[in-house]
Formats: sequence, C-alpha cells, structure tokens
Amino acid sequence: MPSEPLRTDAANADILVWQTGYRLLLALVAGIIAVGLRSAGVLTLSSVAFVTVGPDAADRVLGVVAVAYVALALGIRALIQRTRAAGRTLSTLMVLADLVVVFLLVFLLAEPNDYHRGLLLALFSLQLTHVYFGRAPALLMLAAIAAAFLLINDIAQRYSSVVSWREVLTTLGFFGAGSLLVLRVQGNLHERLGTLVSIFERAEEGDFTNAYDVSADTSPDAITTVGRAYNRMRTQLASIVQTDPLSGCFNRRGFEQQYRRELARAARSQTDVALIAIDLDFFKQVNDTYGHLVGDQVIAEAGELLRANARTDDVVARTGGEEFMILAPNSSAAGAQHLALRVLESFRRRTFGEPKAKVSITVSVGVVSDSVPDESIAEALRARADEALYAAKRSGRNRAVLWSHGLDALRLGQTSGEYPPIKR
Ligand code: GH3
Ligand code: MG
Ligand code: MG
Repeated sequence: MPSEPLRTDAANADILVWQTGYRLLLALVAGIIAVGLRSAGVLTLSSVAFVTVGPDAADRVLGVVAVAYVALALGIRALIQRTRAAGRTLSTLMVLADLVVVFLLVFLLAEPNDYHRGLLLALFSLQLTHVYFGRAPALLMLAAIAAAFLLINDIAQRYSSVVSWREVLTTLGFFGAGSLLVLRVQGNLHERLGTLVSIFERAEEGDFTNAYDVSADTSPDAITTVGRAYNRMRTQLASIVQTDPLSGCFNRRGFEQQYRRELARAARSQTDVALIAIDLDFFKQVNDTYGHLVGDQVIAEAGELLRANARTDDVVARTGGEEFMILAPNSSAAGAQHLALRVLESFRRRTFGEPKAKVSITVSVGVVSDSVPDESIAEALRARADEALYAAKRSGRNRAVLWSHGLDALRLGQTSGEYPPIKR
C-alpha cells in the first residue's frame, strides 16, 4: 500500500494541479495567437534570433518547446493526480519550464532593448511561486530569472547586437531590489501558513496547547488576523473538545492530554503523582430501577461532587460510563488516600437524582501514588489504579484501596482461583 503523502506535498499537489490547468490554457491561447500572427506575417523574429537561429529553425524551436511544455505540464499533472503528492522537485521543474518558455519567447520575438519584458512576465511567476511554494523556491527562481536575463543579453551581444551592460545591470538591479522588497513585505507567508496549518492539525487531535505567536509578525497581515482569531477561540474550543458534556468533567481525550502534561511536569520537578480511579457501585441497578434519565442525572451530579472534592490543580475526568479518574499532581500516598476517603464520605452522605428520585449511591475507589521517573510510567500507573479499584470491588465495594506490591501479589494469586475473577 502506498504510504500517505506528507501534508505539504499533498497541499503542493493541489496547487500544482489547478495551476497546471491555467498553464495549459495559457499555452493553448498563446500558441494559437502566435501561429496565427506568424502565418499572417505580423509576428516577426527579432534581429538577433534571425541571425542566430534563422526563421525556419525558430518556428521549429517554438513548436518543439510548446509541445515539450504542454507534455511536461500534462505529465506532471497526471503524475500528481496518481500519487496525490508533489515534492519540491516537481514544483521546481514546472516553474523552471515557465521561465524557459518566457525567456525563449522574449529572445525570439523581442529586440534586445525590450528584453526587460521577460522580467515583467517572470515577476508574475515569481509572485505565484512565493505565495504558493514559499521563500526558498522564490529566491531560487529570482536567481534563475537573473541568469536567463543575462544569458539572452550575452547571446545578443555575441551576435553583434549592441548591448549596453550598464542598462542591463541597472534594469536587473531594479528588478532584483523590487522583487526582494516584495518578498520581504509579504513576509515568510508560506512558512507562517505552514505554522497555522500545524497548529490546526494539533487542534484537530484535541491539542490546544499551541497559540499562534502574533508578536513574531512584525508586519501583521491576513495570516496574523487568522492567527489572532484562532487564539481568541482556542480556550473555548479546548473546553468544548476536552469536556464531557454530561458530567462537566474532562473527557477521556482531555484527561489523556492533562495526564501526559502532568507526568512530564512531575518528572521534571521530581514530585509524586496520584491517580484515583472511581467507579459507581451497582450503577446498573440505578438505571434498571429509575430509568436512564435519572441514571444520567446521577452521573452528572457525581461529576459535580467529585469536582467539588478535588483541589484546583487536580484533574477530574469521566473516563467511562460510570467511571471517573482524579489525577492529583504533587500528591503523596497519604494525601491521595485522604482525598479518596473524602470522596467516599461525600457519596455516602448525599442522595442523587432529586426531585424525580432519591438515589443513594456508593463508590469504589482505587488509589495509587508514585514518583515519576519519566512519562513511560503512564500506563503502569493507570493499571495500578485499576487494580486497586477492582480490589475494592472484590472486597465488598463502598471502600478505597491503596495499590501496593502486595496487592499485585493478591491479583496474581487470583489467577489460581483463590479470588473471584476480575471484571474488566
Ligand atoms: P459494579 O459495582 O460492579 O461497578 O456494578 P455496575 O452495575 O456499576 O457495573 P456494570 O459495569 O455492570 O454496569 C455499569 C452500568 O452503567 C451499565 C450501563 O448501562 C451504565 N451506564 C454507563 N454509562 C451510562 C450513561 O452515560 N448513562 C446511564 N444512565 N447509564 C450508564
Ligand atoms: Mg460500576
Ligand atoms: Mg464500571
């Protein structure tokens, strides 16, 4: 199976496909006009082309170049449509072909005094390259334009045409300075667009940590405006994407992100992290007795109660149907146990589902606290919190169990049939 093309290559592919459409149209129109004008005798060869190439050969060269150009454009388009990707090579090849055609036309049809027309035409192509492919290809192209311009002037001079190099260099100087100024004013458009795209891609995965750096844009433009608009809605989007609408707690996606961030922070600061896994006891009976709507209300109220119990730095998430997780940064085993007992107590003292019902509900809680050598501990820590939770379930529910190595041994013992099987 072919591998997925890079995002930039895929974007380049889309651009090249539509641009090639314009190229073919332009080549067709220019070709028809040129053939018409040539056969009517209106379009005459330049004096230099007359001497160097000759009228018959010039028409043949034009024909060959036109066919080669169209074939190249069609070939590149077919290739891109098949592979859905266009790396730098294909875009460079296409742009260089544009330049060859432009300067060949100028050389064949314009007198040396009018060679600057080639620069005017090339400027258009330069702009497109900068906007769509970025600064580096644009600079490369600027160098190619200068080389082509000098080359045709050099050929003209060799074939006895009087070329004023002072004029040529002055024109080229103005063209170069003007082009560089435009590239500078437009900023690194393509690169900044790339930054925005990568920020959006992270957001697509629910990661809203990166903001667009507005202050880095010394000459703010439309991209800055988009960046600013994204920054404004970032917090709002993050909370929509990372929050469970029923309980108001983080959802699984939000939890994963906070979990990774807190583990990294704990590893840096060498502090302990606690995980507290909470499962509502016999919740199926609540649904069976009072119906799903009351069940939903109980879940919502349970989420609210857990958040009220947690500290501001704690992350409270609904990780499953009636399962919750509290991530308590900078929390020792004693501190985590304290929180777990507080949670147990608060459930025991409350009734849920009012006014439609009056549901008493208890929870089983698994607690683990450990130091964090690095982020790879994530899975182990979670598995331990789950083990402790299931130990709490097995030993009668409505209680909290702190994970320990002994507990692990207990779990191993269970496989020999000593304990009822763990429900997973
Ligand atoms: P245990 O004490 O062993 O945890 O028993 P339990 O009944 O709580 O556990 P079990 O896993 O058998 O059932 C969980 C129930 O939670 C079943 C499912 O219908 C219910 N549930 C899960 N998500 C939701 C939800 O979003 N809304 C409602 N109303 N019920 C839900
Ligand atoms: Mg349950
Ligand atoms: Mg459950």
